[in-house]
Formats: sequence, structure tokens, C-alpha cells
Amino acid sequence: MNHATLITAYIGLGSNLAEPLTQLQTACAAIANLAQVEELACSSFYQSAPVGPQDQPDFVNAVMAISTDLAALDLLACLQKIEQEQGRVRTGIRWGARTLDLDLLLYGEQQINLPTLTVPHPEIRNRAFVLYPLCEIAPALFIPTLGAIDTLIANCPSAALKKLA
Ligand code: ATP
Ligand code: CA
Ligand code: CA
Repeated sequence: MNHATLITAYIGLGSNLAEPLTQLQTACAAIANLAQVEELACSSFYQSAPVGPQDQPDFVNAVMAISTDLAALDLLACLQKIEQEQGRVRTGIRWGARTLDLDLLLYGEQQINLPTLTVPHPEIRNRAFVLYPLCEIAPALFIPTLGAIDTLIANCPSAALKKLA
């Protein structure tokens, strides 16, 4: 790693097919094993009701913090490769069921607006299944354009979210 350019990034993990808990454990290990990536923390796993189509199983979600000197687009490509390796099928149905979804939530304090990558992830503030695990591993986090994590949490009900043992 080139320690001069290390960035702390946060990745949102989700699965609702083919043994979601195992999918997330496998994905955490795959991310931690990437060259140029060091795992800093992984949240508890949370069960959440699906966003979008309701006729699909509940999701299991988590958030991971890493330190990396990969460029943001290269990190995204690595995450998409792991999705593929774990059998992700792109059906074209928005927010449909999937074996694995890896979203790049935050990349340092950078704001990125490219056709294939928006950071901070645009839905962070609306999603309890992102905010609660994120706060668990980064309680003092300040998110560019959005503000302090505890304020965001206070405005996002956690009714359909259940922390798993
Ligand atoms: P959402 O982004 O609302 O959670 P989704 O995860 O279901 O929806 P996908 O089908 O997984 O969406 O991804 C669609 C595209 O989103 C990807 O091909 C990717 O290029 C793009 N994308 C833009 N910003 C991000 C980001 N921050 N993290 C991951 N993918 C992103
Ligand atoms: Ca997603
Ligand atoms: Ca995604």
C-alpha cells in the first residue's frame, strides 16, 4: 500500500437470497482480502424489510469500514467483481432480490459525481439499514453534504430494522 494516499471508505453490504448471512460473511472476507485494502471494522448484521418491490425476502445488511489506496472507481470495480463471484444476477428490476449488493457509501470526504459512481451514496440519509450499522462503527462520523451521523439517525426511524445476534 502507498500509505501517503490512504483513504477510509465505507461499504454497505446487503443480501436477500441464497443464505444471506453466509453471503455477507463471504463478502466481508473477500473485501478484506483485496490487495490494497485493509479492514478497519465490520458492523453487526441487521435484518431489514426490502426497499422497492415487497414480494421478496427480507434483507440482511451490514456496513464495513476499510482503509485503501485504491482509486474510487477501481474499488467499485473490485466490489462489482465480488458481487459477480457471489452469483449476482442483474435482472433489470430496480431494487430486486439479489445474492449480494455492495454499495460504496463513502470514500473519505470526497464527493464524486460520475455516470457510474455517486459518492456519498445518494440514499444514505433515507435508509435505516445503512445509517444504524454505519453509526455502530463510526459514531462520530460527519458525512459531506449530509452532516453528523447522529442527527441523520434521529431523523430516520428504525422500525423495520432488527439487529441480529
Ligand atoms: P441503490 O444504489 O439505490 O442502492 P442498487 O444497489 O440496487 O440501488 P445496483 O443495481 O446495484 O443498484 O447498481 C446500479 C449502478 O449504480 C451500478 O452499476 C453502479 O455503477 C452505480 N452506482 C452509482 N453510485 C454507486 C455507489 N456509490 N456504489 C455502488 N454503485 C453505484
Ligand atoms: Ca444498494
Ligand atoms: Ca448496488
